[in-house]
Amino acid sequence: MIIPKDARLTAEQDTELEAITGEFDIHLEKIVGDHRTVYAMMGDERHELLITRLEGLDYIDRVDTIQHAYKLMAKDSELAHHKVRVNGSVIGEGFKVIAGQCTIDPKNPNYFYETAHAVREAGGDFLRGGVWKPRTSPHSYQGEAKALDILMEAKARTGLAVDTEVMDAEQVTLAVEAGVDILQVGARNALNYGLLKEIGRQIRNRPTCVLLKRSMHMGKIDEFILAAEYIAALGNPNIILCPRGTVPTMDGYRNHPDESITLLLKERTWAPVIVDPCHSVGKAVYVPFACMAAAAYGADGLIIETHVEPLRGIGDDPKQAITPDVLAKVISDSRAVHELQRQHHQQLAQSA
Ligand code: PEP
Ligand code: MN
Repeated sequence: MIIPKDARLTAEQDTELEAITGEFDIHLEKIVGDHRTVYAMMGDERHELLITRLEGLDYIDRVDTIQHAYKLMAKDSELAHHKVRVNGSVIGEGFKVIAGQCTIDPKNPNYFYETAHAVREAGGDFLRGGVWKPRTSPHSYQGEAKALDILMEAKARTGLAVDTEVMDAEQVTLAVEAGVDILQVGARNALNYGLLKEIGRQIRNRPTCVLLKRSMHMGKIDEFILAAEYIAALGNPNIILCPRGTVPTMDGYRNHPDESITLLLKERTWAPVIVDPCHSVGKAVYVPFACMAAAAYGADGLIIETHVEPLRGIGDDPKQAITPDVLAKVISDSRAVHELQRQHHQQLAQSA
């Protein structure tokens, strides 16, 4: 819909609008109201250049499009029935939990092996372990490839599929070739389109899955979905969306909790949603509550930082990793909350 600034356009402006939209095979329907005239665009209105050219006209207030810029990730796209599988298990069926250390400490691999077993015992489905870490300071521990061997050894010992963050093309290659099941794109890289394309290229013919975090700087929901579109466009749509908190607008939590966007994501895209409560609230004692909130909003699962001895961990673990006994309760309680929200959706659907 094209909304002009003034109530009526001049005949010359009308002709110019028709000429521009015509170039994009769009037919204009003039809607003449008592007080103003607006213009409906009939045809594929997703051309970015069309929108920018219309918005560039000084007599146009704004252009509202009904169709989304994303073609593959949209709820009604040809991929609407695509099932995202990790190691045979479908994300979006039941409530899946990825848990494990923020950071693998290569000096203390036994902590990671113990954590991995504890995740399995607690009812976790997949294991996370940070091999390479995006750190604010270049002097902080950055991760190292040796930790990848520890991650893969834990996979062999527990049988759990594994998740780790990748930040450049070389790390993608190393992780994919080692057999990492879920490549995590961190909040700092969710807007790194070069990396998203590189991942898309490297996983094109593989069963590898991507857990795409929401950048703390993303405003619009569609910006998040379009980042996923970058990967899907290269052929592998095994993508999970992961809200993890945005830049805080108040003091207290590490980031501004955003698990509630799960409902909005689910209205717009078919992609499963796994919420990260740890980087959102940033403190272990808050994490169980954020987990249940995510389940209540209908998330398909959680990614949780867990450590057998959080205070002996590195990276984020000392402040925001929960212990395995807390994890076990969080998993069963979140699954119960998830079931309750499912019943609410069913009731709403029946009464509609
Ligand atoms: C992490 O998962 O440890 C991490 C660095 O997450 P984020 O990218 O959300 O900050
Ligand atoms: Mn972390």
